[in-house]
Amino acid sequence: MGELSAFKDKCLAFVKLQSFLSLSTIPITFSVFGTISVSAILANLLLVPFVSFIVLPLCVILLVGLMLDVNMPSLFYLVDFLMQMVVTSLGFFDLCLPAIKYSGDVSVVSTLLTFSLGLLILLPIWSPKTLSLLGGVSVWLVYLYIFADNEFDIGKGAKNVTFNVFDVGHGNASLLRVGQSALLFDTGAGKAHEYSHVEQVLQPFLRAKRVKKLKHVFISHFDQDHAGGLFALHQKIDFEQLHTPQQTCVKGNHWEISEDNNTSTEQIFIKALWPLRPSSGNHNNESCVLMIETKNANILLAGDIEKSAEEHLLASGALDKLDINILIAPHHGSRSSSSLAFVQKIRPDFVIFATSNPSRWGHPHSEVVSRYLRVESKILHVGQLGAIEFDLSEPQIKLSTYREHLYNRWYFKSWAALEQ
Ligand SMILES: [Zn+2]
Repeated sequence: MGELSAFKDKCLAFVKLQSFLSLSTIPITFSVFGTISVSAILANLLLVPFVSFIVLPLCVILLVGLMLDVNMPSLFYLVDFLMQMVVTSLGFFDLCLPAIKYSGDVSVVSTLLTFSLGLLILLPIWSPKTLSLLGGVSVWLVYLYIFADNEFDIGKGAKNVTFNVFDVGHGNASLLRVGQSALLFDTGAGKAHEYSHVEQVLQPFLRAKRVKKLKHVFISHFDQDHAGGLFALHQKIDFEQLHTPQQTCVKGNHWEISEDNNTSTEQIFIKALWPLRPSSGNHNNESCVLMIETKNANILLAGDIEKSAEEHLLASGALDKLDINILIAPHHGSRSSSSLAFVQKIRPDFVIFATSNPSRWGHPHSEVVSRYLRVESKILHVGQLGAIEFDLSEPQIKLSTYREHLYNRWYFKSWAALEQ
């Protein structure tokens, strides 16, 4: 009996310790990741001992075996099975207890405040221990009540018109917001039931900006890096209309969005310039090319078109008399696109290369970059700068990049130094 109650006491102490650790580290994880994972408390409680005492020792045995050239396939399969169990349980916990997310901008003030609150909770002034836990939880409830709908409501006082290009590695996903209306251009990469930038990047962004529904979704073509997130989009995000080169995203079609704000009406015109007729959307040159005209800026989205489609566009006169401020470079800055004639015709103020850094295909190609430099375009490499935001509310376009303006951190700089 004595042993049993000693075991019970140990278990209880472990539960208390884990709960205390999970609760007291909330401020730090919140200020760094903008997320409070409720399920982490349960996951830490059950999975930390499981991984520490079972999975990890088995991994060490496997590793030593590998170093000594001893093959243990059954042990390998066992570890693999156990890890799958861990991953599945994590997914299950997340499903039952979804995380509280404020994945928008977390200001310096709130970071300092959360950190001080964290220290306060950790201080031994809250005694006995249960009081300490209760104190921590109530401070947090009050904090969330006060701040969640105020400071983090960055949708409030939102700029009238913004254009965001997300950092989705090699691929494109961009969003135009006009007041409360939002339009998505491509979804970035993704795979049904596995991963998608829609879930990882777009959804948290929309949540932070208080956007509940997309008005239009345009898919340039069906390559993975542009349309891979379609499955997740259907599952996770409300939208009204979908346009693809198979149906409506073809030359001749246009859309108009009007949005009233306090002082004036914002009007946006979107014109499809290419392809000439509905296509499978499976080839680069079948990409839907869109021209977006706002009061203060013109944006050209060129999908993955290559030189021959560029030539057709130039010959058709569709690009004549257009003053392009922002261009998402065709085909991520590949050498197959951005021909000299195209670049000299467009002469964008800003050219965006929607690709990772480094890029496995060497995008953007140095020749392409120098072509744009020659027409004095400002080069914006998403992989290097992080996500890009243009504020188009005023005649002067305001540019912000994630790593320089929105989330400037010392480690971005040290990584950049390492890459050189
Ligand atoms: Zn592409």
